[in-house]
Amino acid sequence: MASVLIAGGRVLDPASGLDRAADVAVKDGKIAAIGPGLARPGVDRVINAEGCLVTPGLIDPHVHLREPGQEHKETIASGARAAVAGGFTTVCCMPNTSPALDTPELVRFVLGRGEQSAARVFPVAAISKQRRGNELAEISLMARAGAVGFSDDGDCVASAGLMARALAVVKPTGLAIMQHAQDPTLTKGASMHAGEIALKLGLGGWPRVAEEVIVERDIRLNRGIGCRYHVQHISSGETVAILRRARAEGQPVSGEASPHHLLLTHEACIGADGLGYNTMAKVNPPVRETSDMKALREGIADGTITVLATDHAPHTDSEKALPFEEAPFGLVGLETALALYIEALVSSGVIGWMKLVQLMTVGPAKLCGLDRMGLGRLEVGGPGDVTVIDPEVKWTIGQKDLVGASNNTPFLGRKVKGRAIATVVGGEVKWEGGR
Ligand SMILES: [Zn+2]
Repeated sequence: MASVLIAGGRVLDPASGLDRAADVAVKDGKIAAIGPGLARPGVDRVINAEGCLVTPGLIDPHVHLREPGQEHKETIASGARAAVAGGFTTVCCMPNTSPALDTPELVRFVLGRGEQSAARVFPVAAISKQRRGNELAEISLMARAGAVGFSDDGDCVASAGLMARALAVVKPTGLAIMQHAQDPTLTKGASMHAGEIALKLGLGGWPRVAEEVIVERDIRLNRGIGCRYHVQHISSGETVAILRRARAEGQPVSGEASPHHLLLTHEACIGADGLGYNTMAKVNPPVRETSDMKALREGIADGTITVLATDHAPHTDSEKALPFEEAPFGLVGLETALALYIEALVSSGVIGWMKLVQLMTVGPAKLCGLDRMGLGRLEVGGPGDVTVIDPEVKWTIGQKDLVGASNNTPFLGRKVKGRAIATVVGGEVKWEGGR
């Protein structure tokens, strides 16, 4: 295996608090040394990181890779290529494939495909059989097979009875339950945020309370059980407040925010000509209002939200060309997330670089138990996963930047700043470019 020297950057490692100018040497798949002026003779490849941030490999704990079953939208291999192009060395994929990831065999299938891919790929397995919300899947067997969390993502675990059983059964695995919080009886026929734009466009409105009641309920169910509980893609400002209260009580709960919920409001669903619709901004849960965006940012600044996640959700052009109510929910995010987080959080002064890197490394590693494998930090002897970020490079998001199999994003044409210019996974350079 080739050795790599990442030279002359500012090394940021939130896990240890390290923030200094240093080189990082990677050899035999592991971090070999971190320090100033490391020797270059014998090094196979030098990456010039002057003016750049050198961080632990970024981790995205919430992506949809569509394999098995919908390989025309994305595959594990194409999704992993999109990941490394966005600076991610590890992704955790959701179980709403067909068939759903609800058996140990399917967990092993994803892990096997992941091993042949550009990034590390870990499956989040289904909570219920076929994600139907009726009967628990084989939780402990899937944990043993290598699942890194449990979720019925795409759908909510709507039954309180099933959620109570799931919390009790997942708890001894040490893994987290990740809830797509959405009471389906409140969102029937809804396709965007319940507000004045939905009224104007004549579309069914999706109320904030559909998310809030599920999060309140689950936290209450979990009292006395104490399973790790995580709220996926928070969209409502009030959900942040619920989470803040539960964390203050010492409950083992966490939450995540996605780029689109930090940057877009329901106005993004209006077509570019001011008429019609923009299906690219149709997402589940929906983008809401400025007050929600503000509450999410505050939740990140005060430590209520500890994880950033893209919810990368590829769909074909023809699917997104359908009328708004028929078009599928979701947008791709792996290639663009870093620049969008920088815009929403760092350039706007909400948090600094160290905190951003923490939300993209330590936070997701802990959520999915990947910290036990040494992921999410830079440590001599630990996995050789490193991301090099040029914080100043300016670029406009274009089709050519979307290296995954799908192009559905409302951010095409957006001028952004900051980008991963090299991504090293297990000691191998899997991506270099972007400047
Ligand atoms: Zn979801």
